[in-house]
Amino acid sequence: MSPGGTDDDADFPYASAVTSLVALKQARYVREDQPEDGRAYVFYQHMRSVGQYEYFYKALQDDPGIFLTKGAVTEVKAEGDGLNVTVENTILGEDINVDVDLVVLGTGMVPTTRDEAVVNLAYRQGPAFRDLDLFGGYCDSNFICFPYETRRTGIYAAGGVRRCMTIEEAMEDATGAALKAIQSVVAAEEGHAVHPRTWDFDYPDFYFQRCTQCKRCTEECPFGALDDDEKGTPKPNPTRCRRCGTCMGACPERIIGFKDYNIDVVGSMIKAVEVPDDDEDKLRMICFVCENDAYPALENAARKGLSWSPLVRIIPVRCLGSVNVSWIKDAMSSGMDGALLLGCKFGDEYQCHFVKGSELANRRMDNVAESLQSLGMEAERVRLVEIAIDEYDKVPEIINSFVDDVLEMGPNPFKGW
Ligand code: SF4
Ligand code: SF4
Repeated sequence: MSPGGTDDDADFPYASAVTSLVALKQARYVREDQPEDGRAYVFYQHMRSVGQYEYFYKALQDDPGIFLTKGAVTEVKAEGDGLNVTVENTILGEDINVDVDLVVLGTGMVPTTRDEAVVNLAYRQGPAFRDLDLFGGYCDSNFICFPYETRRTGIYAAGGVRRCMTIEEAMEDATGAALKAIQSVVAAEEGHAVHPRTWDFDYPDFYFQRCTQCKRCTEECPFGALDDDEKGTPKPNPTRCRRCGTCMGACPERIIGFKDYNIDVVGSMIKAVEVPDDDEDKLRMICFVCENDAYPALENAARKGLSWSPLVRIIPVRCLGSVNVSWIKDAMSSGMDGALLLGCKFGDEYQCHFVKGSELANRRMDNVAESLQSLGMEAERVRLVEIAIDEYDKVPEIINSFVDDVLEMGPNPFKGW
């Protein structure tokens, strides 16, 4: 019986093409072992035979000793020396009842990397691999753009640790992971970051004299690059760092930064934006755009000849996770009328190259909203929108609808102060 044997797939969240193939393989073994009178029944909820394995499935369909049908197994009971299986809702339109010697339940694959004893790493976030809880415990840090890379820099996953796969797939996968590992060793030797900021030689600097030991940076670093001492002061591990800037975005004291990307650098960019202060029709909005997905989407939109409101000024950022709320507060207190943040999709459609940057930024928006309201400004003047790299056609609508909403609210009441 292959998952899911009932109508409810929730019983088998890890069912996969591998499970289906193993069920077919077991049926084949029965026939090879008993070519004359051996019989195998495969009852399944979903049969997945991907790629060339479709031919294997078809070959078994042609074997008169193998019976395959979709159906829900509703009962298995002892009968005589054997077992009796009842299957309902089959594609034949009738219920089935068969006597068998052996029942084999197809089981899914579950990675063991959440088990602390498996890898036993010395990280503040615990000794196991971290995952997003979105993919059943599989530990790629970004399954679309950076397969093999776990959230532990320098440790690469292959085979069943990444997802359900056959032995052939796992062998090929191991080649990819080994190549990634070689790149990582070379990057460490040369002193620069691994993907996605390859060739970035800088590390975040901390001005510890002003650290309040709030632990936000250590808790939010997606790659476990920051441990902390018993007082809560961060202890950087530069070789684990991927230069995302999430720690910089998290720090309420604004004491974390890179030489070429820090609170002052972006703060100066904000200050350099001209804010018209005496013309109600010429409001000014700032737009922080993630360089990984959102910024290329804007570039593609421009290349395709799409345009958007000229009232907006764009500032690219490494990741929305690196956006410190002080930038938004500075922008609003300098008289800007709104701030838009464009970043990767989060939740089930997660695409952030730095794991949870846009999600963290979204959480920080509560803080921004409170600050605006305490100043008597509408919280809607700051908005975060998720966008994928291929959604360039949505760019004008996203920006223009934000601009229209801000125009409707009118100028920032603190403009010109
Ligand atoms: S830059 Fe990113 S990876 Fe490096 S310490 Fe900060 S949060 Fe961690
Ligand atoms: S977020 Fe800033 S203040 Fe808080 S522990 Fe980290 S460095 Fe210190």
